[in-house]
Amino acid sequence: MSHFIDVILPIPLEKLFTYRISKAESEFLKAGMRVSVPFGKSKIYTAIVCRIHEQEPVIYEAKDIHQILDDTPLVTKHQLTHWQWISKYYMCTVGEVMRAALPSAFILESETIISKNTSTVISDEDLKDDEFLVYEALHHQSSLKIHDIASILDKKNVLPVIKRLLEKEAISIQEEVYEKYKPKLVRYVKLHANHASQENLQVLLDELSRAHKQREVVMTLFSMSAKTKKPVKVSELTEESQASTAIVKTLIDKGILEEYYIQHDRVEYSGEADEASKALSKPQDVALSEIKESFKTHDITLLHGVTSSGKTEIYVKLIEDVLASGKQVLYLVPEIALTTQLVNRLQDYFSEKVAVFHSKYSTHERVEVWHNIFQNTTKAQVVLGARSSILLPFQDLGLVIIDEEHETSYKQFDPAPRYHARDAAIILANIFKAKTLLGSATPSLESYYNAKQGKYGLVELATRYNNVMMPDIELVDIKDKHKRKRMKGHFSDRLIAEMTETLEEGQQIILFQNRRGFSPIIECHTCGHSPQCPNCDVSLTYHQYRDQLRCHYCGYNTVMLKKCDACGGNDLDTKGFGTEQVEKEVNALFPEHKVARMDLDTTRGKYGYEKIITAFEQQEIDILVGTQMLTKGLDFRHVKLVGIMNADNMLNFPDFRAHERSFQLMMQVSGRAGRTDTRGKVLIQTYNPHHQILQQVSTNNFAEMFKEQMDERYNFKYPPVYRLIKITIKHKDYNRVNVGAAWFAKSLRQVFDDLVLGPEFPPVARIRNQYHKHILVKIKPKQSIVKTKEAIDKINNSFSSIKDFRALRVIINVDNY
Ligand code: ADP
Ligand code: ZN
Repeated sequence: MSHFIDVILPIPLEKLFTYRISKAESEFLKAGMRVSVPFGKSKIYTAIVCRIHEQEPVIYEAKDIHQILDDTPLVTKHQLTHWQWISKYYMCTVGEVMRAALPSAFILESETIISKNTSTVISDEDLKDDEFLVYEALHHQSSLKIHDIASILDKKNVLPVIKRLLEKEAISIQEEVYEKYKPKLVRYVKLHANHASQENLQVLLDELSRAHKQREVVMTLFSMSAKTKKPVKVSELTEESQASTAIVKTLIDKGILEEYYIQHDRVEYSGEADEASKALSKPQDVALSEIKESFKTHDITLLHGVTSSGKTEIYVKLIEDVLASGKQVLYLVPEIALTTQLVNRLQDYFSEKVAVFHSKYSTHERVEVWHNIFQNTTKAQVVLGARSSILLPFQDLGLVIIDEEHETSYKQFDPAPRYHARDAAIILANIFKAKTLLGSATPSLESYYNAKQGKYGLVELATRYNNVMMPDIELVDIKDKHKRKRMKGHFSDRLIAEMTETLEEGQQIILFQNRRGFSPIIECHTCGHSPQCPNCDVSLTYHQYRDQLRCHYCGYNTVMLKKCDACGGNDLDTKGFGTEQVEKEVNALFPEHKVARMDLDTTRGKYGYEKIITAFEQQEIDILVGTQMLTKGLDFRHVKLVGIMNADNMLNFPDFRAHERSFQLMMQVSGRAGRTDTRGKVLIQTYNPHHQILQQVSTNNFAEMFKEQMDERYNFKYPPVYRLIKITIKHKDYNRVNVGAAWFAKSLRQVFDDLVLGPEFPPVARIRNQYHKHILVKIKPKQSIVKTKEAIDKINNSFSSIKDFRALRVIINVDNY
């Protein structure tokens, strides 16, 4: 009898591929192990065994595998089940899911580029002969491909050698390497408590009357603290008082000054690991019992808790319970929230049990996390990660927490699999019979709708921790302010007044502007022309900092024009405004204060966010200007004022979710204000203060927003009432896209009739020289989703069998919103 295996290849093949194996191999192999297999003319791939059986394929003759790469499975059965679901639901191949799931070190293939790992020292004795040959070759050549290695070793199958070298950390696979950020400790000084009172200080100054320099330092420190009301750094003190560090040290030794450090983390958390979790407040405790109660009848429960209500501490209690029962926890957060802030907070409670999974980690770190989770070691009991961590090899999952469940970054847009991590995580939990808790201050309409329908449990937490009041939100009518000449640039007199007051109190400010760049576009006053990107149908954005025009779609950039390139006129003006201009204006308005900016441009580097967030926490920055990034669950202690520079551009965005998203965004930014004891203040500048969304934001009325938006979704047949699948046809030839999209839409209409919208060009029709055209299929509430997808698949197959259309790319995006 012959033996066969079906394998998943890391390429977009519709079906699993079958290979022949020997009887011995069939006894050894298990689903989830890797094998290397030949594919096509000369390619070699790493594949995952899915099924071992005895049915010979009918259509083609099965080839032999090259080699077995593992002794034990690398992928769990549960993962294989989950991958199949993702591939079916999101209409992509399992190979695409596999590629997204496995760290690249696991899927060696012919094109893989290998280089020496310079961070480890390997001695020759540790290497076998073949390993040594490869390692030696890497001395002379910075990188090698698999086939180079094959010729060096003079054999075809070299994957096992590479695998061993990887395990010894002698080599690495090309990939971005991300080092963990270790924020610096900053040294601060204050007057020792013994001298802090007014009288004691006087006594002290008298005592120091002979030690001029020391007296000077104490006086300076006193006036600096009084002025800024903020911690004083040793470096600032020495600079301000012109004293040497030796004098400061003498004062510390004498016990007059006291030195202390503020960590990356908040002061109160600088304690040791394994802290006991916090005692919950009454409302938190009620919410926790309600969640537990809800879990008895609902596997999925939504915690709707206002910003700063202390949701994290509730999660911590749930995690403690699950850990005690010996099960694993998956804690999902949006990528940006994966900062030291949250990591440290969890490590304080669960110390080494927390594993962090980050798309920016190096291959080695990812491989390590993978193995820890797979082996269910103590190091991977709580897995904290962003979107892709739903693809990890959990063994015994007991709870999934999805924080900020409304976040758009949970949805993967490109490349396939185009999954939504929240929805895929719910399926994952279901495979394990585990519970899922969704958390948000501003739930997505679909989750809240599911909860209201009774599909999910619902727990409401309406008060902030410690009974801190919700911020006071004021709408500022900038149309009126312009008319009455009460604007300075983009700042109303109200905003300037509140900023001034906040800074005087030594508190911090966040300014939110929904656009990056200095100003979105440049316009010629003479002819009205705006410079365009040569690759995309979009105007270029002016970035003052580099004096450049940049394309936000493809990254194209060029120096700022001196003259209009259409008419030659030199009256070029900027239209609209972005974060960079806000930053510049703040600098002019408050030259004494430190301003920083947080957007895609300033956070590109390795420690991009971390640096800014840490500096802001340590109050090295007084005013932080930023985009969406500022909204994602960050917990700052000294922010009193939040200013939303302009609410109108988000509200007017052409998307059926624009209002829902604007509400979420504004509530979330507002939630950064006043999280400790003083009530926060939020100013929203707008041309349209009567807009219903702004009214709902200012009164914190989620219920009304939900009701009104749901009415619209019913009326216009949009999610969560209807479902959506978006089909994009893409090619560099405009006409072919038009013809192809028309054919596709017509075929869809024959099946789905008026549930098909389009084809239509999006606002930016050409990106990187490719034209895009969209078709939208709506799915009625009771309609079979499976059948709908089958019909679309069928049409797609006919489409790609037509010669003229073969070159067109078809992208299918399920739940594309
Ligand atoms: P949310 O995630 O709901 O916005 P957080 O969990 O970040 O809120 O809590 C807000 C702040 O209140 C945090 O600084 C947190 O440390 C603090 N906090 C919350 N619950 C407690 C508690 N039970 N005891 C002490 N501090 C708490
Ligand atoms: Zn472009």
